[in-house]
Amino acid sequence: MTAATQRRETGLQIRQVAVAGNPNSGKTTLFNRLTGLRQRVANYPGVTVEKREGRLSGTDIVLLDLPGTYSLCARSPDEVIARDVLLGRQPGTARPDAILLVIDASNLERNLYLASQIIEFGTPVVIACNMIDVAEARGLHVNCKALSRELGVPVVAASGKTGRGLDEIRAALGALRPREPFIRPWSLAPEFEKHAARVQRTIERSGVIPSHAARAGALLWLTDYLSEDRAGVEPATRFLSRLGSEDAASLRESADAIREFVHDPAASAIEARYAWISQVAARVARPAMIGNAKTPGRSWTDRLDAILTHRIYGVAIFAALMFALFLAIFSGAEPLMGIIESGQLAVADAIRGAMAEGPLQSLLADGVVGGVGSVIVFFPQICMMFLFLAVLEDSGYMARAAFLMDRVMSRVGLHGRSFIPLLSSYACAIPGIMATRTIENPRDRLTTILIAPLMSCSARLPVYLIVIAAIFGDRLWLKAGMMFGLYVFGTATALLVAVLLKKTLLKGPTPTFIMELPPYHLPQARAVLRTMWDRSKLFLTGAGTTIFAVCIIIWALGYFPRLDPVQLPQETRVRLAAAGTDDAALSNAVSAEQLRQSYLGRMGRFIEPAIRPLGYDWRLGVGILSSFLAREVFVGTMGVVYSVGESDHTSDTLREKMSRATWPDGRRVLTPRAGIGLMIFYVLACQCVSTLAVARRETGAWKWPAFMFGYMTVLAYAAALGVNQVGAAMDWGG
Ligand code: GDP
Ligand code: MG
Repeated sequence: MTAATQRRETGLQIRQVAVAGNPNSGKTTLFNRLTGLRQRVANYPGVTVEKREGRLSGTDIVLLDLPGTYSLCARSPDEVIARDVLLGRQPGTARPDAILLVIDASNLERNLYLASQIIEFGTPVVIACNMIDVAEARGLHVNCKALSRELGVPVVAASGKTGRGLDEIRAALGALRPREPFIRPWSLAPEFEKHAARVQRTIERSGVIPSHAARAGALLWLTDYLSEDRAGVEPATRFLSRLGSEDAASLRESADAIREFVHDPAASAIEARYAWISQVAARVARPAMIGNAKTPGRSWTDRLDAILTHRIYGVAIFAALMFALFLAIFSGAEPLMGIIESGQLAVADAIRGAMAEGPLQSLLADGVVGGVGSVIVFFPQICMMFLFLAVLEDSGYMARAAFLMDRVMSRVGLHGRSFIPLLSSYACAIPGIMATRTIENPRDRLTTILIAPLMSCSARLPVYLIVIAAIFGDRLWLKAGMMFGLYVFGTATALLVAVLLKKTLLKGPTPTFIMELPPYHLPQARAVLRTMWDRSKLFLTGAGTTIFAVCIIIWALGYFPRLDPVQLPQETRVRLAAAGTDDAALSNAVSAEQLRQSYLGRMGRFIEPAIRPLGYDWRLGVGILSSFLAREVFVGTMGVVYSVGESDHTSDTLREKMSRATWPDGRRVLTPRAGIGLMIFYVLACQCVSTLAVARRETGAWKWPAFMFGYMTVLAYAAALGVNQVGAAMDWGG
């Protein structure tokens, strides 16, 4: 049957279906399965909430994957989007013709709360009772037919994991008919009901929402308006502004009357709804094995949680996992890196062999292959890190990590909800800053945005890797330990800054937060690989665009003006002649001198006075400077600088060249002290233009990104200076 004939029979034309549900109920998984790869991703206007649309395979129905929400009384910005789309109040998005409501069968009660709210509004709904496999594994049987009778809408048992129920969902969407509005089968206190009915009549008469939705609209407005927090009252006030002044006054009057008669009316409405929901849940779900109250699935999760969220063991396990990650990165990725490195050298050699010596040869061999290639060498490590994180995330472990951190976070005046954005900032601060949208309190959100770039992101990884390899050679445990230390240092600094901010600029009470731990899943290979690829891809794109461009600029600055050896100043030639007797050494010295005389070399020497106290030579200075665009540019810059600056092109890797580099007097440049100071600089400095741009977009002004850049740069310089000066005074690490 085609979609067109379905439409004729049902008399209901369905073009837009919104996929709604609680966070983690499996909306996106079902959405992906139902739409295949026919998806379009955009943003909702004015905010950075992602808007994902796709065509339901075999039909011309468009599915819209909404952000997760626990209720229509939305608080955070992405919940507001979900609610506004569902109620047809989102500018630029048409009111959906139907709703595919995804509920988590293994968490029925909590999920039914949103379901009952949505159903009351009267839009045609199909419920996908998802995670049915999880419920069954826990010995819970959900009777979807009975649930359908209770709620008056079709309910399909489904699993995004196994693909069960997909055809039934398609069929149910096709067979939807206009429905009678659902009259809530539970009631409020008599005074509350009386005034709610009055509000309903006023809303109905005003015509601002469809009349069949007026009853549900009245209750939603009342619970928002009567709630204690501003985030709820704000949308209620916004709704009033759409009414005439007389109607608005009448609504306010009714709400005030309720407040007078009913103690904490918003809470009492929530309780009344929950009381009914628990009865429904008890009627439709029951343990499949009677007498086996503690099912194996449940107790297994509980036992695991007892260890993984334990305040000592849990933290120890988290630390051990991270340490294992770094060990794996240093030891496991070595062979792959070797392959890329030898490929890089071979390509550079081939170019030098095939082309005449000159600017073009140097541009390709030194600028492109030497620069971009040096960054791509780190691709395997980036993939490994993202794979590891994706497995932890998909298994449900990351939620435990956030739970553990909640204790720490509340000490610094934030809550566990802030830890999720910080956790994603280990990958990249940009999604991290965007994830702060789930934080309701603006001050807490701002604090989290301001500290997010201190978490060591994946762009720092290549810098750490190359510097650590250059200073510690093949001492594996030392390398992993150093890396671990850098991550801990970044995190600790972030928390410290949060305390300071919450005590000064962004003063406010510590919020409370109830966190839900999703059940453990065996990670799914496809989902994990996809997440890994999506994130790692960005690294390659960066190497192909920003880093490519910067490497070419750095190359040009380092190559020109190209002085003929005979044009070199007299004193320089004398110095060079003294430097080497054999030809190779001499010509290397000439190349190095040419680099020193280039624009880049002049720039480097210009900033040297600022860099010198930190213990770096002008080459590292240029690397730091170029990194203010994006951190991983450092490696590309070093690749170009060391490639342009030598003529015999040995098969040494960049790490080896960096560790051999010397000052004019023969002392090593990258001593452990200089290397550690340099990495600490990278931990603390705000070297990422994109982060600043996103912070500007999310905070709406340049003030906060400017503050972020300022405090981080000052911190970085001071810390690197401290390491070098104190280290020198103690005669350590030189
Ligand atoms: P959303 O937040 O509602 O979009 O949820 P997702 O689609 O991102 O799913 C959350 C997690 O649940 C992911 O790890 C999915 O792989 C997993 N998942 C989704 N549907 C099912 C299901 O039916 N059964 C099981 N076992 N896991 C599922
Ligand atoms: Mg989703």
